[in-house]
Amino acid sequence: MENLAENLKRVRERIAAGAERSGRDPASVTLIAVTKGVDAETICKAIDAGVTDIGENRVQEARDKFPSLPAGVRKHMIGHLQSNKVRHCLELFDMIHSVDRLSLVEELSRRAAARGLVVPVLVQVNVAGEATKHGVEPEALLPFVKRAAGLPGVQIRGLMTMAPYSADPEDARPVFRGLARLAREVAEADVPGVKMEWLSMGMSNDFEVAVEEGANMVRIGTALFGSRRP
Ligand SMILES: *Cc1c(COP(=O)(O)O)cnc(C)c1O
Repeated sequence: MENLAENLKRVRERIAAGAERSGRDPASVTLIAVTKGVDAETICKAIDAGVTDIGENRVQEARDKFPSLPAGVRKHMIGHLQSNKVRHCLELFDMIHSVDRLSLVEELSRRAAARGLVVPVLVQVNVAGEATKHGVEPEALLPFVKRAAGLPGVQIRGLMTMAPYSADPEDARPVFRGLARLAREVAEADVPGVKMEWLSMGMSNDFEVAVEEGANMVRIGTALFGSRRP
């Protein structure tokens, strides 16, 4: 934990190097510090050190910690979201990365529209086809986007995926390249109201490869906060 500022600096340097290798401006890549299992005091230190965006994967944990955080930090819901947590989720988060089924996007729409909100969401895609992972199947993505785009209260702003863990980050490259290709296909379909603005992909183990393949949001926990988290 003492190394937080140092870890942050190193992660930013690695993001910048990846962006440069792919001919992009490092500033175009948003670092989301994944703070699951990290206490509010440490999150505040990370914000002091320059973190602008945080990600949590549980609504209850966010409810416990967010009241202790300074205003202004952007909050991303990145974990599997149960429909009965949608109401609290909308109160807590600025963007939801884990929209993975029609029933969820319908519930988000209903609750957000009732509150006069338009919530930015990313569609989670199961690019790798892992049975254990959540996400819309690649073949089902465009029909899903077209259905969801017609709903009030939500706006699709991009795609998210998780690559299977592997000791070799190169193994993740086809997954990330696949998500980037799907985002282009959706963009070309030109669905009214849909913006393919964000590609949320890459974690501690594989974010450099993700950035090389076009990620402009990376979700990083362990490389910033260490692995000794519950
Ligand atoms: C935990 C988590 C991350 C961050 O993983 P690290 O390997 O700790 O960087 C990213 N995305 C999601 C959805 C997560 O649950």
